[in-house]
Amino acid sequence: MSQDWVDLRSDTVTRPTPAMRRAMAEAEVGDDVYGEDPTVNALQEEAARLMGKEAALFVPSGTMGNGICVKVHTQPGEEVLCEATGHVYWFENASMAVLSGVLPRLVAGDHGILDPQKVREAIRPAVYYFPRPALLCVENTHNMGGGTCTPVKTCEALGAVAREHGMAVHLDGARIFNAAAALGVNVKEIAAPFDSVQFCLSKGLCAPVGSMICGSKAFIDKARVFRKMFGGGMRQVGILAAAGLVALREVVPTLPEDHRRARLLAQALAVHPNFSVDLDWVQTNIVMAKVRPPMTSAQACAALKTRGVLASPASAAAVRFVTHHDVTDAGLDRALEALEKPL
Ligand SMILES: *Cc1c(COP(=O)(O)O)cnc(C)c1O
Repeated sequence: MSQDWVDLRSDTVTRPTPAMRRAMAEAEVGDDVYGEDPTVNALQEEAARLMGKEAALFVPSGTMGNGICVKVHTQPGEEVLCEATGHVYWFENASMAVLSGVLPRLVAGDHGILDPQKVREAIRPAVYYFPRPALLCVENTHNMGGGTCTPVKTCEALGAVAREHGMAVHLDGARIFNAAAALGVNVKEIAAPFDSVQFCLSKGLCAPVGSMICGSKAFIDKARVFRKMFGGGMRQVGILAAAGLVALREVVPTLPEDHRRARLLAQALAVHPNFSVDLDWVQTNIVMAKVRPPMTSAQACAALKTRGVLASPASAAAVRFVTHHDVTDAGLDRALEALEKPL
């Protein structure tokens, strides 16, 4: 498989590294529903330390992590402000509506980056017949925005707006380490303004399964209850947490390489006759390329596939390319070669 294709569909396709597989085989384990898995406990401590929060919880997926955080922060009938193309709104099967009974309220960002002033304007006044705005969700990096980074100052301003109005603020930081690498800051600085943070171990970080949610000790105590309620309480899950620890230690430092390759790919797409790319908005490991009509994104992906390159349609008119740990320089060269001629 890896010989036949360069797989740029998503960073979720990364496979565990050899070091992860060894760590998984040798992991010390216990029953994590009893809080007795030493490897899970070590990963949770490490995640909390890295994010600058009191506590953390291992969860099976980013979707469950976001769902638990929304649940802890809200009551049924309240409102959650989120970016119009945000993951929590688009790709989580109406989780917030079904599991938390809350109403999403969309605020359009610039390439996914929210403007604190626009958020302020969208917050309803406290009138009894309006749903109470309870939570603001921010996504950094922003997936559909093209892997864009919300700068620390903007995160702080968004946190301040939420707090002014008595709202909690959650960070969908599925790719927070990509944001930190691109912004040249510590992840802690990005996480600081938020009451809760979710990040994925299973995307560009190569772990096979899992996300972390981080927050205050009181927050995580409540989150653990909903993790069990949602079916995410697992037993000897240190087998998976072991891979997460390797991800944080060994894969995080390699993310700038993914960003370098994404930029080279974006530069090739920007001059390709079938695509256009705004290079200013290529900031991390995601490249959103507009397809020039009359070609559709599905047709472009099909044509690329015949040349051994897998990418995915992000809309009818845009193709998403994602670099990751399993796309080496050789893989990138192969993709660049496929882009030498018109489709
Ligand atoms: C992938 C992703 C998630 C969800 O993670 P899963 O583990 O796939 O459920 C949440 N938010 C963002 C921004 C993502 O890219």
